[in-house]
Amino acid sequence: MSPQPVPCHCPVCGGAVGFSVLPPVAHPLAILAWPDTERDARSLPRLPLSFVQCTRCSHVFNHEFVYPGEEYADNSMRMYNSGVSWRGHLSDLREQLLAHLPSNPTVVEIGCGSGEFLQGLCEHRPGRYIGFDPQAREEGAIGTVEIRQCLFSPLEHISELKPNLIVIRHVLEHLLDPFVLLERMAWAASLEGLDCKLFAEVPCIDVALRHGRLADFYYEHYSQFTTRSFEYLIRRAGKLMSVAHGYGDEVVFGLATLGVPAEQLESAVWTDVSLARVSGFRIKVAAQLDAMVDARKRVVIWGGVGKAASFMNYYGLDAERFPLVVDSDMRKVGSHVPGTGQLIQSIGALKDECFDVLLIPANWRVRDVMQEAERLGVRFAVALIEHEGELVDPLNVRTPYL
Ligand SMILES: [Zn+2]
Repeated sequence: MSPQPVPCHCPVCGGAVGFSVLPPVAHPLAILAWPDTERDARSLPRLPLSFVQCTRCSHVFNHEFVYPGEEYADNSMRMYNSGVSWRGHLSDLREQLLAHLPSNPTVVEIGCGSGEFLQGLCEHRPGRYIGFDPQAREEGAIGTVEIRQCLFSPLEHISELKPNLIVIRHVLEHLLDPFVLLERMAWAASLEGLDCKLFAEVPCIDVALRHGRLADFYYEHYSQFTTRSFEYLIRRAGKLMSVAHGYGDEVVFGLATLGVPAEQLESAVWTDVSLARVSGFRIKVAAQLDAMVDARKRVVIWGGVGKAASFMNYYGLDAERFPLVVDSDMRKVGSHVPGTGQLIQSIGALKDECFDVLLIPANWRVRDVMQEAERLGVRFAVALIEHEGELVDPLNVRTPYL
């Protein structure tokens, strides 16, 4: 029997199709429930375990997972491991990271707990070490580490701290949209022009998948990385430098240089320039509109919904100063302009009248509108459209529309 595709939404790559990795079942919370009695334990609510593997990046996740509620967020998800092999793994990691740190570095850890990992780094390389963890027991200096009891906000904190290294260990697998955090880190580092490394570590599901280790699939482990899905995710944060396994291949970790591709940076610069231009546009057009009102011009606006309504809201064409709005679509007549409130009238109601200005917000339709106005007997001294931040006469100014 061929496997059945499951519609889903991969938290790592956005992939829309998965295949089940085990038959769906329903189990209670495995870590966070803490029942006091046998009866409580037996009657715990059963939650759906429906693990699928993404066809695009191979990530494994429970596609029926929903956050069970406040108690879920309040309880620490961290399972401490104080075994000798684990301590050896941590000390190997520190050694590898020290090779990438300058003297007197600034290092941030997301989900730092009590800050032990940073303390260990600081012992070998003094510098500034800041840990973020909303579940940290206290805020402030603990030993040589500054603990902040809050979520790490990349756009704010990278700009403030300008770190050389960001460490995120055993956190990404708990996030519903891990790429959101990484992509914002990449942007923040690029915009600050920082040479900032990211070190990430998560549990690796490869061995469990290979040997059908069912116990790994429980509700709190909603998102499980394969080596491939981990690499896929880290590449969203920047340039991947290395990926390796530790603790008997049960964890996968990687180092990357944070940053977005050059073409994305260029488009952001363009957007910035264009935003600055548009701010100027609004001032110029507003001044032209004020001048029309001062000169007691009789203005009719052609169109009252969609882009016409958007135009009126952007440029402040209020109903008191610009009461006349017409539309050739009879379904819109009798309605009002969203936001500004003018009654939308039929063009027939204005037949044989003469206006100083026919204002056409839909500039790309100017040719059709002018012909239609003429056909319906609406007379006007000048038609105006918005072009490059000014209201212009399309018969006298070269535009792409006429
Ligand atoms: Zn995926």
